[in-house]
Amino acid sequence: MTLKAKLIASIGSSGTIPVSDYMTACLFDREFGYYQRRDAIGAQGAFTTAPEISQMFGELIGIFLVNSWREQGSPRRFTLAELGPGRATMMDDILRVAGRFESFLSAAELIMVEQSPALRDVQRQKLSGHHPQWIDTLDMLPEQPLFLVANEFFDALPIRQFRRRRCSWKEIHVAADGDALEFQEVDSEGDSALRQRHSDTRPGDIVEIRHAAIPLLEQISSRIRQFGGVALLSDYGGERSWGDTLQAVSNHHPVHPLAEPGESDISAHVDFGALRNAVGDGVSTALLPQGVWLEGMGLVERARILAERLEGEALRQHIAAQRRLTHPAEMGELYKVLLIRPSHAPLPPGFEN
Ligand code: SAH
Repeated sequence: MTLKAKLIASIGSSGTIPVSDYMTACLFDREFGYYQRRDAIGAQGAFTTAPEISQMFGELIGIFLVNSWREQGSPRRFTLAELGPGRATMMDDILRVAGRFESFLSAAELIMVEQSPALRDVQRQKLSGHHPQWIDTLDMLPEQPLFLVANEFFDALPIRQFRRRRCSWKEIHVAADGDALEFQEVDSEGDSALRQRHSDTRPGDIVEIRHAAIPLLEQISSRIRQFGGVALLSDYGGERSWGDTLQAVSNHHPVHPLAEPGESDISAHVDFGALRNAVGDGVSTALLPQGVWLEGMGLVERARILAERLEGEALRQHIAAQRRLTHPAEMGELYKVLLIRPSHAPLPPGFEN
């Protein structure tokens, strides 16, 4: 049995499922979901991510967190949280840097949000010295300042896709045709989030909506508003959703999103405008391209220091990693970092002009 066969059997010949249900099955089906694997991410997995490319990424986020914590008066107890930590490489790099600031570490309560049991297990092993806890939903976050990070988490949350007609919308679903899966447009009532999209789209355009992200943003901002702290959400995407961005990656190469469910990673661009709209009063947001933010945080200097100890192939890889993280033609421009902070707090490092 494969996930494809399982989906074809459950969809049947007359049914269809929204793209969101298809994504959820691809990533989290209990038998065949892609994130049931321990080796889903990194060089061995289908795709790699910024913290897996270079230790510099997590280190600079660590420096960012320690600085933001100090600027907010070094609260004596706070939550250090990560959404979707994957192999926990980034948190490991953050904690190594933070280890130089003993008062930060001893004030931190480490909390992870991770849906995959296999990846929770990897995280437990990697961070065993730091006693992390896992929570299932963000309403379980303690009532204290929240310093939260997430990298390539929101792109994995399910999206629904709508195609505009002249005055109405069709929803794009997944249907079964024999032993293949295919996209099919079905009648739809639309969605309240589409109402503002009549002014900036034309008939035929696709708009993607990620409902699951909104309550998460509301909860994160509500903690930050009430208790202080900061959130740094890095991901790929833009200021608004426009066009079909559903993509699957297998063995570091793009594949058709319906070709091998469960065998490949599946994700879609993050609509940062929708995330920013969800934060409410009392907190402010800022959005920067990843390359600009990393260089503002001192990546070039850190890369130079690390390079001094390297030679040959290791040096070549280090230089390639720096380029990959920051160059506009690689991850520097498409990837963004979204900051959420209390409106009265100073702009943290990397965001000041
Ligand atoms: N942050 C890591 C991993 C990115 S992959 C890195 O940059 O390498 C996405 C991660 O988010 C995985 O750990 C996946 O299991 C987790 N994830 C995706 N959707 C989730 C959800 N709804 N709830 C909790 N974790 C989720």
